[in-house]
Amino acid sequence: MDSEQLRDYGHRMVDFIADYYKTIENFPVLSQVQPGYLHNLLPESAPDHPETLEHVLDDVKTKIFPGLTHWQSPSFFAYYPSNSSVAGFLGEMLSAGLGIVGFSWITSPAATELEMIVLDWLAKLLNLPEQFLSKGNGGGVIQGSASEAVLVVLIAARDKVLRSVGKKELEKLVVYSSDQTHSAFQKACQIAGIHPENCRVLKTDSSTDYALRPEFLQEAVSKDLEAGLIPFFLCANVGTTSSTAVDPLAALGKITKSNEMWLHVDAAYAGSACICPEYRQYIDGVENADSFNMNAHKWFLTNFDCSLLWVKDKDSLTQALSTNPEFLKNKASQANLVVDYKDWQVPLGRRFRSLKLWMVLRLYGAKTLKNYIRNHIKLAKDFEQLVSQDPNFEVITPRIFSLVCFRIVPTENDEKKCNNRNRQLLEAVNSSGKLFMSHTALSGKIVLRCAIGAPLTEEKHVKEAWKVIQEKASYLIHK
Ligand code: PLP
Repeated sequence: MDSEQLRDYGHRMVDFIADYYKTIENFPVLSQVQPGYLHNLLPESAPDHPETLEHVLDDVKTKIFPGLTHWQSPSFFAYYPSNSSVAGFLGEMLSAGLGIVGFSWITSPAATELEMIVLDWLAKLLNLPEQFLSKGNGGGVIQGSASEAVLVVLIAARDKVLRSVGKKELEKLVVYSSDQTHSAFQKACQIAGIHPENCRVLKTDSSTDYALRPEFLQEAVSKDLEAGLIPFFLCANVGTTSSTAVDPLAALGKITKSNEMWLHVDAAYAGSACICPEYRQYIDGVENADSFNMNAHKWFLTNFDCSLLWVKDKDSLTQALSTNPEFLKNKASQANLVVDYKDWQVPLGRRFRSLKLWMVLRLYGAKTLKNYIRNHIKLAKDFEQLVSQDPNFEVITPRIFSLVCFRIVPTENDEKKCNNRNRQLLEAVNSSGKLFMSHTALSGKIVLRCAIGAPLTEEKHVKEAWKVIQEKASYLIHK
């Protein structure tokens, strides 16, 4: 590492990125390239000799940029946002610059301890129960993704129950979720060896705005108990991916508690909103949860990746995931004086990710972060109003946070035709390059999702997006 080269190149790279943000609105939000486009633009093999930074950055502009979908564009409304910010970027830069790998406390004590402190800070902002704080048997950890978070707690819960009933009973373990739960949970079950026939996917519908009904859970658990099976895990949602449905945690928690099941709360997107007192109600009942997850990299100004997981019983995690090879042994770990995050996750190596969250919390402060969330929710409310005022459209589920689910209304009661029309609308809107939205299906209806949450989005971008949607829709409606 040549410090002077780093200074020179680093400054130039920051300039390059700052210019990108200045001009981000000039690019089509959704990349318009065809599959394989890059193969024709780059050489067949790596260069033998060093090239200049100018040359590489030129290629980034001319060859890489066309293949980017601009997640940080103010007109990015697809999926859920993946925030970037100056503070988050600086934290990432610092983490890359320091280049440490903090798998055990001893490999960089600050990395472990800062992570514990920052997750305690955030747990307090979310008003999570005390048992999730690091001072007792609980604590928080940064995972790479909500998928990893649900996987590690599922494995922890699986091993906990198997320790009491015996390993041979794996085939009898049953998990529960709603049909709105993210596919990450299904993947976790596949990895954790849960028998596919023992994954209960409980039906939801519009009568509860796609939230899980506690009576359905109770019924399923009772049936499984009668059949001699072992219910052990519920993955509940606060803010589902399709429509931000919120499962009733308090009622579900009573059922999981009385059946000694692990309750995991997936609040990957909506968790961020719960730092605002007026939205905290959506995680009421988290008191009975065993684990809680939110992605700071979605809607909390923290650059990808930064998925926050809290558990009440860290021993369950470490009993399931720890290894102790000779080459990693050290005094602090052997004396059980420290947290070794390698035992809370799947990989060994881990980046110093808490730096960026710490930067975000310090450079913005909780007040700014709350207002940031509130502003997006207000923009979503405005958008929802625009949609409801247009007789050609309907809002499909009531908006709770900053996602609006809507569609062109069916004509002649023809749902199939209506679905096609909405697919066509999405295609037309996205290929315009002016904005990017995604879709889902709810009760067989193809629904467009406008998820507001990119840091640069302002009122004018939302209004402009609506104009484009109306314009594209009018061609389809009058066709
Ligand atoms: N859970 C919810 C509710 C989500 O919306 C998502 C992704 O959008 C996930 C889980 C998966 O997230 P990740 O990519 O962090 O695994």
